[in-house]
Amino acid sequence: MLYLDHAATTPVKPEVLKAAWPYLTEEFGNPSSVHETGLRAKAALDWARETCAKFLGVYPHEIAFTAGGTESNNLALTGIALGNPRGRHIVSARTEHSSVLACLDYLVASHGFTVDYLPVDSCGRVTSEALRLALRPDTTLVTLMLANNETGLIHPVAELASVAAEFDVPFHTDAVQAPGWFDLNAPALGVKALSLSGHKFGAPKGSGLVYLSSALTIEPLLHGGGQEQGLRSGTQNLAWSVALAVALQLAGEPETERARVGAVTTAFIDGVLAEFRQARLTGPNPESGERHPAIASFTFEGINGETLLLELENAGVQCSSGSACSAGSTEPSHVLTALGMDSDTCRTAVRFSFGHDANSDQAAFALSGLRQALARLG
Ligand code: PLP
Repeated sequence: MLYLDHAATTPVKPEVLKAAWPYLTEEFGNPSSVHETGLRAKAALDWARETCAKFLGVYPHEIAFTAGGTESNNLALTGIALGNPRGRHIVSARTEHSSVLACLDYLVASHGFTVDYLPVDSCGRVTSEALRLALRPDTTLVTLMLANNETGLIHPVAELASVAAEFDVPFHTDAVQAPGWFDLNAPALGVKALSLSGHKFGAPKGSGLVYLSSALTIEPLLHGGGQEQGLRSGTQNLAWSVALAVALQLAGEPETERARVGAVTTAFIDGVLAEFRQARLTGPNPESGERHPAIASFTFEGINGETLLLELENAGVQCSSGSACSAGSTEPSHVLTALGMDSDTCRTAVRFSFGHDANSDQAAFALSGLRQALARLG
């Protein structure tokens, strides 16, 4: 079976599990305890925090470990919005992940915020000009993701964040799909907050972090013992924090990986578009340089995406329709809808996402699987 659903989740790397194991067993201490066992746990947590901070080019005390991307996004958005006295206005886009959109809906419904969603074109692009126009004296936050999990579109985060900075508005980016593929130096990107989820790059599900600049005032989501610099109370998940740090260390060299895996994905995209007249690529074309190197999503005119998925699996290829986070839902993808697709077209979408082990044999196998699956669907 060929697994082409790495944007949904990735396997835990053996080195990551090996590094985490002692903190689930003999080194089981609570980092807040003051005895030797606790101090060793604290030293390991400090190491994990320093390693993650170094990776992002920020200070260790600006990292809070969380239980994944959804929590990181919720803490960043709610924390900044409620902690920032500037006003009750937020700027975002309808192509964001549901963990951002649902959190914004909550801020609107429960805290009286208004959100302006930037217009997107048929590839999902937003523009700096539109962002500039949307910013107001009472804007407390801009949140725009780095790489879209469904279409693979890359937002020019550094450019967009510099516009927000001109107006002194903090910029958060959901960078969940980015580690291993893009440079994630927060000061270079100009972002004041950034979310990561471990299971997208070889750490366990339920591991994550959020970078929150110390220049921000954050209202925490969880109240209690004040762990994680008061940002996230609760005894830390030491093993998963160590796992996340090791997974970041192993995430690979983005430029090399982009070139290598991007070539495989592009060959696959070219093959699909050349062979199947009903296929349309979602998002910009590969030459644009605006794509995630491992994500390729298509619509297949007249074909039910869910049925195609089943036939692909019969042919030995596992991938997903739209976003796995909303799998089981029969609603058309909110991302594709935001791109202007009608609901019938949205339901024909299938996403393939390669891993760092991508090679031309995989691309050829996926293409032949698609040939077989589409032939069966007539
Ligand atoms: N943000 C993006 C872009 C994602 O792709 C996902 C997961 O698919 C999330 C956030 C949520 O992350 P988690 O599954 O760790 O809660």
